[in-house]
Amino acid sequence: THFGYKTVPKGEKERLVHDVFSSVASKYDVMNDVMSMGVHRLWKKHLIEKLDCGMRPNSGELLAFLDVAGGTGDIAFGLLDHARLKYGDNKSTMTVADINPDMLREGEKRCLSTPYANSARIQFLEQNGETMDAIPDNSKDVYTIAFGIRNFTNVQAGLNTAYRVLKPGGIFACLEFSQVEEPALDYLYQIYSFSLLPMMGQLIANDRDSYQYLVESIRKFPNQETFANMIREAGFYVPGKGYENLTFGVAAIHIGVKL
Ligand code: SAM
Repeated sequence: THFGYKTVPKGEKERLVHDVFSSVASKYDVMNDVMSMGVHRLWKKHLIEKLDCGMRPNSGELLAFLDVAGGTGDIAFGLLDHARLKYGDNKSTMTVADINPDMLREGEKRCLSTPYANSARIQFLEQNGETMDAIPDNSKDVYTIAFGIRNFTNVQAGLNTAYRVLKPGGIFACLEFSQVEEPALDYLYQIYSFSLLPMMGQLIANDRDSYQYLVESIRKFPNQETFANMIREAGFYVPGKGYENLTFGVAAIHIGVKL
């Protein structure tokens, strides 16, 4: 335990994850903003620019994107926008997969005010990221997951499934909260997350429990090196050291390539 906070008993995680996201689907932006002090928007933008996806001119092959735990669609719309605005790509397709129907409904609602409203290019699919039964093997070019995988009951199963659904040459990219490596900074970050955050969750969203769950799930998630090794374990080639720290490691982007 950190700062006296009790841990969630094993086995309850699935139900808790469901409750957390069902209870926050609509106040979701507020939560992300509070958690990251608004910085999650910059991290997501950075991920999208780093991937730099889109059909290149003269390419006849559209890209099949899959955004897992895609919830409200932030990453999905961002990737499609980038492909369209930078490469004039109006063909590539996007599947947003999430285990929680409330989150998907929120994404579909938001989709109505994007250029992809009522387009066959985008699909919202209720799926468990650990198995994704509806997604065929070797079918996707780009797999993204932002702030989702740490909620999986079995993270390794999620990574193995990512490997399964990607085509050879396909890219896996994960944006997730991670560990602050510098001890003094980490100490401050812990004070922030274990004392201030749940209090802010209470004040802003009247929902202390959801925020407390999130803080704890961040703390329990494997560190950068361990997570990179899990990605290798799934079969991916991991370029370089395998990750990029964002904001001192508060978050990190991990990359894997299916060779
Ligand atoms: N990617 C979005 C973003 O960055 O704004 C949403 C992230 S939200 C913090 C986490 C999402 O993970 C929720 O929508 C939740 O329903 C989803 N999730 C949790 N467990 C999952 C699983 N096993 N399979 C698929 N999605 C899952």
